[in-house]
Amino acid sequence: MIRFRKTLMVLLTILLVIPTFSLKPEEASAAATFIRPSEGTVTSGFGPRWGSMHYGVDIAKSGTVPVVASAPGTVIFAGQAGTYGNVVYVRHQINGVSYVTVYAHLRSISVRVNDVVSQGQRLGYMGETGNAQGQHVHFELHKGTSTWNRAYAVDPMDYFDKNIVPVEEGSFRLLTGTFSTVASQQEAAERLRQATGWTVYTVNENGLRLKTGTFTTRASVEAGQRLITQQFGWVSYIKQEYFRLLTGTFNSTAEQNAAYERLRNDTGWTVYKVNENGLRLKTGTFKTRTAVEQAQQLVTNDYGWITYIQVEEQ
Ligand SMILES: [Zn+2]
Repeated sequence: MIRFRKTLMVLLTILLVIPTFSLKPEEASAAATFIRPSEGTVTSGFGPRWGSMHYGVDIAKSGTVPVVASAPGTVIFAGQAGTYGNVVYVRHQINGVSYVTVYAHLRSISVRVNDVVSQGQRLGYMGETGNAQGQHVHFELHKGTSTWNRAYAVDPMDYFDKNIVPVEEGSFRLLTGTFSTVASQQEAAERLRQATGWTVYTVNENGLRLKTGTFTTRASVEAGQRLITQQFGWVSYIKQEYFRLLTGTFNSTAEQNAAYERLRNDTGWTVYKVNENGLRLKTGTFKTRTAVEQAQQLVTNDYGWITYIQVEEQ
């Protein structure tokens, strides 16, 4: 079990009333989407088909039809492959997640392995090579792998033209080393704000320090830390926040016990019976603010109980 250090609740209360937002390092700021690989009609969707599994979507159109990269990436295969006929595989790295897209049954191929392609760049022309009935492109999207693996196939229709938001991994902040005077602390805060556009707080936590707003991914907080090191030469520490729900008080231990059983059985959460200014329930930790807020909503809706969000820092 991880041990947590409780921080000053007063300070956190102040921080919590200010809305936090995700800090986006420059390389991750552009909205990312997958686009359809060609014009045409979807003639067969993702899912079970003819007693087996169709791992992609088929898009058909007659004539000379370009097939284009669905997102920016690197070509990892371009050639013939059995029932796929002429096929191109492209690897993508988007907001810290790996994807591979597959473009099958091409008439001809316009790219080579290791080519870096932009979104919308032509990979070849639609055809009916391999095991195809009629001209179409068979398109697959594999999520979470950097190599071809159909076990990771997802329905491309869920991804076309939608923003790919970074997976929220947790709640991270940067805390700098100490400054010797309030004046130097405030000046540093202003410099950091102007250089980055981040939310920056001046805090007194074992010394005068700066503390940032919330980063929602480890990659983005690490990028923020590198920026501070490179541009300012300052020491900084990554702090991860964890969240718990604390209920209002129950009138008796019997009531507390009954509530404990209900909540545990219904939600599967770790729940503790505590006596903190009264008989209450306390949950295990949630990693993201979104998760704890959803949990709070559930408790409010299903049980009608009052709950408080507690923040702990590691
Ligand atoms: Zn197909």
